[in-house]
Amino acid sequence: MKYKLRCITCGRIYEPDDVEYTCPKCGDRLGTLEVIYDYENIKVSREEFSKYENIWQFEKILPIEENSYRTPLHVGGTPLYAFPQLAEELGIKKLLIKYDGTNPTASYKDRASAVAITKAYEKEYDTIYCASTGNAASSLSGLSAPTKLKTYIFLPASAPIAKISQLFIYGAKVIPIDGSYDEAFDISMKIGEEKGWYCRNSAINPYLLEGKKTGALEIAVQNDWEVPDYLLVSVGDGQLLVHFTRDFMIFIN
Ligand SMILES: [Zn+2]
Repeated sequence: MKYKLRCITCGRIYEPDDVEYTCPKCGDRLGTLEVIYDYENIKVSREEFSKYENIWQFEKILPIEENSYRTPLHVGGTPLYAFPQLAEELGIKKLLIKYDGTNPTASYKDRASAVAITKAYEKEYDTIYCASTGNAASSLSGLSAPTKLKTYIFLPASAPIAKISQLFIYGAKVIPIDGSYDEAFDISMKIGEEKGWYCRNSAINPYLLEGKKTGALEIAVQNDWEVPDYLLVSVGDGQLLVHFTRDFMIFIN
């Protein structure tokens, strides 16, 4: 296999078939796994990437099999806009904005959901779930809508009605929890494990960041292989910063 999973705490390396989500030694809280690739044997060249192709153009450096299911929706390949006037006003050489609002559910998280859904198919699950109050929930519900997967979303009952309605429109099964987001998260993990559903919870599923890294790769491709000096990212859980920095380094070197 072209990749393995490495625990970010103890450094143990696992074959992907031997572990599902987190390091068994370090547990759910500390044992987040990251995907590491055998770059020596993966041959990629700059010429094979195009500026507005979807995320699957990076398949050789994604943890997916060659013939596995991919969403028919166009995820990634989003515009990178230049703002010369604003750059001048701010006194900087160049200002670019990566606009991920053109993803199917208008969220950067579609990149992660797309990879999670592919993994659910590869692993032959029939149901996928996550706990979320916002974008991750609508992203997972939207991307799994055209698939055969059943989707369960756990969220605090106090979540705004607009967010919940979006999930119903996409056909997800919504489980409101009378408690905080953290409680919804813990309950989702417990029920998901009991039922044998595939988990798309951040910091648990090791493949989400691999989807998220495609944004970094696209910025490099679209900016003619020039990596920005600074990157400003609005964050929820902040995880995507990990792959922005790491994958810029790997890809450009
Ligand atoms: Zn560990």
